[in-house]
Amino acid sequence: MIVMKFGGTSVGGSAAISRLVQIVKSRIRRNPVIVVSAISQATDTLHKTAMLSAAGEFIAAKKSLGELKIRHLNLCRELLGEKSLSYGNTVEKVNEYFSELLDLIKGVNLLSELSDRSLAKIITYGELLSSYIIYEVLNENGIKCGIADARDFIFTDNNYLKSEPDTDLIKEYTPSVINEIMKGHNTVITQGFISNTIDKVTTTLGRGGSDFTASLIGMALDAEEIEIWTDVDGVHTADPRKVKNTKSVSVMSFEEAAELAYFGAKILHPSTIQPAIDKNIPVRILNSMSPESEGTLVLRDDKVRENGVRSISCKENITVLNVFSAKMLNSYGFLRKLFEIFDKHKTSVDLITTSEVNVSLTLDSDEHLNKIVTELSLFSRVSVENDKALVCVVGKDLKNTKGVTGRIFGAVWNYNITMVSQGASAINISFVVNRSDLNNVLQALHDEFFETKGM
Ligand code: ADP
Ligand code: ASP
Ligand code: MG
Repeated sequence: MIVMKFGGTSVGGSAAISRLVQIVKSRIRRNPVIVVSAISQATDTLHKTAMLSAAGEFIAAKKSLGELKIRHLNLCRELLGEKSLSYGNTVEKVNEYFSELLDLIKGVNLLSELSDRSLAKIITYGELLSSYIIYEVLNENGIKCGIADARDFIFTDNNYLKSEPDTDLIKEYTPSVINEIMKGHNTVITQGFISNTIDKVTTTLGRGGSDFTASLIGMALDAEEIEIWTDVDGVHTADPRKVKNTKSVSVMSFEEAAELAYFGAKILHPSTIQPAIDKNIPVRILNSMSPESEGTLVLRDDKVRENGVRSISCKENITVLNVFSAKMLNSYGFLRKLFEIFDKHKTSVDLITTSEVNVSLTLDSDEHLNKIVTELSLFSRVSVENDKALVCVVGKDLKNTKGVTGRIFGAVWNYNITMVSQGASAINISFVVNRSDLNNVLQALHDEFFETKGM
């Protein structure tokens, strides 16, 4: 059994879904569990619709919902043909989902209130719609496919918009639900991103969370392989949308992929790799627009031989906090006090550097920033910088590879670099730059490590 996850652009139109059908056919003997995202932009549209309703702009919300409905109905027509029996069933289902959505946004509009719990419920319809349409399309194309509701086995806590999976419950429920539906079928399709609490309240695994669903299912089923089908041919040496002349990396370790994803490489949800590590399941990242490309294979570290820089990632929207306190001098307990505040506000810190009386930290989210600054200000002086970006260079054993640091900082010598972190992990060297310099810094680093010299 393998898991195949298809992202938003890989299910984003009828041509993409037709390619998906062929890709699934090519793997049918391996009994794939197919995990799909919402069609491209659907989650954003649902999010926007919910916000508009809460802000009293019901007409605009209804209009954007109507446009989304048309996109889904067009897919049904183009992929199933109006004369087929499955067309009627599918259109009925699409209408049912959109009428539920309309009720939900009406409720939000009447109450002028949008809780995380309601928003989570609304944005999960993207995956409900795409999975149902693709399920019908696969069957119409002669593939015996069953459908599973991810909420029957992906259980989480009640952090509605970015929930934490309960891996024990997932391991307990997934095999029986999937194996039961697989009986009499060659493949089972389910929704990425969607989850729920044990009391059946809908939650989501956070934006981009379908990758995570795929690896959780892979872990629970002891899958042979987890395939992530996306719009690029594997993990590149940097984000091809930001950097010129990037190349696909053929093999990397779990640790390298996890580090890149954690430090901003959008190609994988940051938590995707952990479940695969637990069961040592290879993860393959492939291009649904070019299925024959080799892509990237992610494996256990001892199977990846080559040392050196593998890829460069970045986080564009970080916040830097500089904390100054004379009380730090010759005292202990200061950092404990500091981190208790981040802990209390459930805010994770990515990078930290300290000096005699200063601590600088980078935060990924500014959701609780005001409260954090208020509390820190009770015992220190705090300044906040919003115009910074985090750059992360990842590769096997960078810590012990002579000359890498020199090459990194040589390449970006004419930019202002702050908060350097090296050696905390053997595979990562990170630092902060001005956001306005980010693209140039990424390109300079990429040219240094990956540009073929003399060409
Ligand atoms: P999907 O909808 O399939 O989940 P995403 O848009 O979430 O796809 O992720 C794919 C995108 O990730 C690519 O189009 C690319 O712009 C971006 N990306 C960021 N870093 C990298 C990288 N190192 N290699 C490849 N793609 C990357
Ligand atoms: N549809 C969700 C999102 O856009 C989940 C995903 O695509 O992975 O965030
Ligand atoms: Mg994604």
